[in-house]
Amino acid sequence: MKYRKIIHMDLDAFFCAVEELKNPSLMNKPFAVGGSPTGRGVISSCSYAARKLGIHSAMPTAQALRLCPELILVSSRHREYSQKSKMVMDILADFTPRLEQISVDEAFLDVSDIQKESYAIALDIQLKIDFETGLPASFGVSTNKLVAKIANDYGKKQKGGNTYPRAIQVVEPGKEADFLAPLSVDMLWGVGPKTAEKLKINGIKTISALATANEDFLIAHFGKNGKFIKNNALGIDTRPVENSGEMKSVSQEMTFEHDISDIDVILSEMKLISEKLGSRLRKKNLMGSTVHVKIRYFDFKTLTRQISLSSPIDQDGIIYDHAKRIFMDHWNQKMPVRLIGISVSRFTQGEKQLSLWDTGEEKESKFLKVYDTLKNKYGNEVIKKGSSIQKD
Ligand SMILES: [Mg+2]
Repeated sequence: MKYRKIIHMDLDAFFCAVEELKNPSLMNKPFAVGGSPTGRGVISSCSYAARKLGIHSAMPTAQALRLCPELILVSSRHREYSQKSKMVMDILADFTPRLEQISVDEAFLDVSDIQKESYAIALDIQLKIDFETGLPASFGVSTNKLVAKIANDYGKKQKGGNTYPRAIQVVEPGKEADFLAPLSVDMLWGVGPKTAEKLKINGIKTISALATANEDFLIAHFGKNGKFIKNNALGIDTRPVENSGEMKSVSQEMTFEHDISDIDVILSEMKLISEKLGSRLRKKNLMGSTVHVKIRYFDFKTLTRQISLSSPIDQDGIIYDHAKRIFMDHWNQKMPVRLIGISVSRFTQGEKQLSLWDTGEEKESKFLKVYDTLKNKYGNEVIKKGSSIQKD
């Protein structure tokens, strides 16, 4: 039978690994990237040595320091992380165009067309990422996205240890359900903490128990999701790896390393996303007249809302203003946010109308053109716009 070869890649303690490259003396030490302990700062990524001491991401920094006074605190540098992330994604794209980036440090690849064993492909990718960026990465390999992702989580846990796991966990074709069977139900997608709790109360603790549970019972308790989680428990997942190849829209998104409720943090991230998005649109000479905002909450509920504009746009500030308006209209403040995305679609190719000369908007356009040129020439660090400088 023909089966797919799907790889899930996840960089190990990504932010920490980047910091360690800059400062090798951090190696094997308990350290964390996070906000200030005096404010409401939280840990966004922690080294494996720190994890051993009970530190985890999303923990308030002050609490982490109480728990572990020797913890070394490093402040985050998101631009640096984005650059490294892009390097990694470019390497993945060299292996296959069937690539789906799901966050700053995670992606799925469909390598069915590569005539090599899946394990060997994952190893090649791991070595290439290490060689070209110095970053450690782990891999899950299976016939679908669901099992590849869980295999990766599982492989990393198995490694334990004080340092980066660099795991490669393969689940052979036909062995998907067997592999999942002994694992805890909360390792499945679609099973959040609430669902897991409810399943456990009903005696369903392992994935095998879920796989053999009565479907009517599951549908009665969990609605449509009941059937979905049962299929997942059987290791069935037919979703394709969806590459963003076709240029119907340009989107940019960011998964927080922990769930965020602070509006200032969300808006400042949206500003950065708008800047990246604007710069990509202008590079491709595209202007779009629909703006979409994607909000994914802590429980993976995802909401996409859009507005149509009367004229096409490609400028950071204008993208941000529209995106902010959409976000403020639709955000459920009680729900912490896991991912935020902005995209622009409905493209009109080419330059602006001449009639717009000498308006403020046109001046901004000219400024952005110079800005983009300098950035391409000298890199992100040399030139920063006012709004970005304040943040750093
Ligand atoms: Mg990671």
